[in-house]
Amino acid sequence: MPITRQNASLPHTGIATFCKAAYVHDWNNLSADVAVLGVPYDGMASMRPGCRQAPRAIRDASARFGWLGKTEGSAGFFDLAGNRTWMKGVRLADAGDVDVSLDAERTRELIRSAVSELRRTGAMPVVLGGDHSITFPVLQTFESSGPLTVVLIDAHLDYRDTFLGLRFSNNSPFRRAHELGFIKQIITVGVRGIKSTDQEYRESLSHGNLIISAEQVRDQGVASVLESLPTDLGNYYLSMDIDGLDPSIAPGTESPEAEGLTFTEAKRLLRGIGARGRMVGLDLVEVNPYLDHAELTQHIAVQLTIEAIATRFAA
Ligand code: MN
Ligand code: MN
Repeated sequence: MPITRQNASLPHTGIATFCKAAYVHDWNNLSADVAVLGVPYDGMASMRPGCRQAPRAIRDASARFGWLGKTEGSAGFFDLAGNRTWMKGVRLADAGDVDVSLDAERTRELIRSAVSELRRTGAMPVVLGGDHSITFPVLQTFESSGPLTVVLIDAHLDYRDTFLGLRFSNNSPFRRAHELGFIKQIITVGVRGIKSTDQEYRESLSHGNLIISAEQVRDQGVASVLESLPTDLGNYYLSMDIDGLDPSIAPGTESPEAEGLTFTEAKRLLRGIGARGRMVGLDLVEVNPYLDHAELTQHIAVQLTIEAIATRFAA
């Protein structure tokens, strides 16, 4: 008697991939609009490590939205406030993880080669970190998309030249990105707290970057903040540090800062930015499941990532 297997339909069944999309191990067979890639590396977490567990935790949480991951094309999701459907027809694949090393430099090489290969398939990479140091090697692969705007949602600037003698920690990815030459401007939204230094603030501004604090978003409102941005961002890469959100809704992160963005603010920012440019890739970093409560952070991380992906395909 042949064994008949059912499709894994309940959210918690099957091996967890992002939104239950097909796992594609051999990228020669990858044919998708969006490919999710995990980078389970937290070697630069200086105080409370654990975000290496984020790709698995986020995939696990994303099983709630399994209908979005259909290989032949997503059914999309209905936004009842806006009375519209997003992401319909988008083909999503899960490309697995970068096989990271314990060595930081080797890990950066592995990230670069993985993202380069993934980009060659034509899919937009959606990278799940990992600590924020993983963004720089990802960005290095985007030279062909330059001049590139970088949109960063973060409580911190991550723009230090060095940190404890290191040039490639999670305190410096955007400083290194600026030095690449094909990054037009870095727009950082949600900055607050007492960790960013006046030096990195002044240096970032002197390099022509834009810094919008969380207080500015609150005081001016999202619409006014969006109006202050360039009307045409061109190609842009979106990097989302989960600590950009308020720790009351995203507590599972190494460096929580009060006065953070609400989910509504972040979602409206993403949509407004999406209307001003063409997203070529995105990442979501610094989710630490060990510091989480009730899996709140991994669940909100999934929803933020889905909202961000959707803005790329808003007709
Ligand atoms: Mn941060
Ligand atoms: Mn960061």
